[in-house]
Amino acid sequence: MEKTVSTEILQLRQWVNSARRIVFFGGAGVSTESGIPDFRSVDGLYNQTYDYPPETILSHSFFCSKPAAFFRFYRDKMVFDPKSIRPNAAHLALARLEAEGKMEGTGIVTQNIDGLHTEAGSRSVFELHGSIHRNYCTRCGRFYPLSRIMESEGDPSGVPLCSCGGIIKPDVVLYQEALNEDVVDGAVKAIAHADLLIIGGTSMTVWPAAGLVSYFKGDRIVIINRDATAADGDADLIIRQPIGKVLGGLFD
Ligand SMILES: [Zn+2]
Repeated sequence: MEKTVSTEILQLRQWVNSARRIVFFGGAGVSTESGIPDFRSVDGLYNQTYDYPPETILSHSFFCSKPAAFFRFYRDKMVFDPKSIRPNAAHLALARLEAEGKMEGTGIVTQNIDGLHTEAGSRSVFELHGSIHRNYCTRCGRFYPLSRIMESEGDPSGVPLCSCGGIIKPDVVLYQEALNEDVVDGAVKAIAHADLLIIGGTSMTVWPAAGLVSYFKGDRIVIINRDATAADGDADLIIRQPIGKVLGGLFD
């Protein structure tokens, strides 16, 4: 078994070495090795019990009608202490690929909102669902860091309010909200421009993953995921191993 794995990583290493424009498409599985739970996994958030289903709480209409309940859930389940959650070997390996000139005109397309790719040093990152690190007043547009959201737990209303009185909203895409067009546009260009597509830590079932990946016109598709994915049929290489081990293994 170990021998097979080594062969797969060796194959990936060869393709990475010959590629010039690698694009990485990633999901929750990239961050689980940093200690962030995958919401959609069997023991994840969507299988726990709350007053409302997570899909309801994380919707635009719920944010507007019950902001205190939204932020209680958001602070408890969606954000984390940046000091304790750190980028893992996968994040660091991807940042290194970019630094070594392997992502010219491409980058990382992620469904994650944790900001760990940026934290690891990656610069070209397309965060399809936004980032917990960006927060804006819904009235005047003033920017606030994550710490302001966390502090609001102690505020009388339980809701983070701007100095102008407006509610501060995390720049994350809620249910019922559209993706940011500029981010999607950038992701499409990065994927269409790439010669090697590496998909990791995602089942490829969450919209718009499959649609975006269809823009790829390069040579090879590699999938690194614990379980089968909706894109397996298109893959030239599938590696069912921990993503940190596989990507970190590129530099061993
Ligand atoms: Zn304001």
